[in-house]
Amino acid sequence: MIYINNKEKIEELQRIKDFTVITDFDWTLTTSISQTSMGIVPDYIGGELLKKRKEIFEYYHPFELDYKMPEDKKLLIMKEWAQKSFSLLSQYVTEEIVINATKNARTYLRSGVKEIFKTLNENNIPIVVMSAGFGNAIKIFLENEGVLYDNVILVANFFEFKNNKAKLDLENIIYTANKKYLSIPQNVRKIIEHKGKIILIGDIIEDIKMINKEQLHKTITFGFLDKNIDCNLKNYNEKFDIVLADNEDFNSIKHILLWKPTKV
Ligand SMILES: [Mg+2]
Repeated sequence: MIYINNKEKIEELQRIKDFTVITDFDWTLTTSISQTSMGIVPDYIGGELLKKRKEIFEYYHPFELDYKMPEDKKLLIMKEWAQKSFSLLSQYVTEEIVINATKNARTYLRSGVKEIFKTLNENNIPIVVMSAGFGNAIKIFLENEGVLYDNVILVANFFEFKNNKAKLDLENIIYTANKKYLSIPQNVRKIIEHKGKIILIGDIIEDIKMINKEQLHKTITFGFLDKNIDCNLKNYNEKFDIVLADNEDFNSIKHILLWKPTKV
């Protein structure tokens, strides 16, 4: 089901043909039943890591979906979640494990992603994939799927592997509630600002923070909504220009990117 909320704005922006894409990864590029980038390694290793990870996830995930919680409180809780998750993962992960786990992952691109990425690559349109997830796994996954083109810029949390130890700066971690435009490398931001329009795609409301507020008027925001639809639809419709509810795919986005709004 597709909800178009700002028809006038979208039609206005459709006249601008030069654009860039900023998209989230987990449950945006991937289907809502997919393992997340943070879940790939624990599911592969199993045992104690999986058990601890599940406990952490089950405790913190409801907060992520709670849009009634004050923003500053949520920010702290989300940071704590990310730090605990990455700290746990660092105790178990190696480069080899990431490669094998990603190969075996039950993570699937939404229909239409491959085609859109190919088209965007052919047209030299930058795609920023910004994720609070596990960058090393996302990179390998996109590579395996054949969509890590040279116009794809990945902004996520990457472990550095030295002497088989995984290192990550936990203080400067990207987490769901602090995704922000400034995390995008400066040279890429310059290109984004030079282009006329931004296409932003996410699956939680915080994903809209991948751009600055001042950029909203020239951005078409797409929000996938596959979980808790009844209780979140109103809020999503208020925040996103277009809401793609109940396991929609990228073909709908493609229609809009192809500047044929009446087809949607
Ligand atoms: Mg997501």
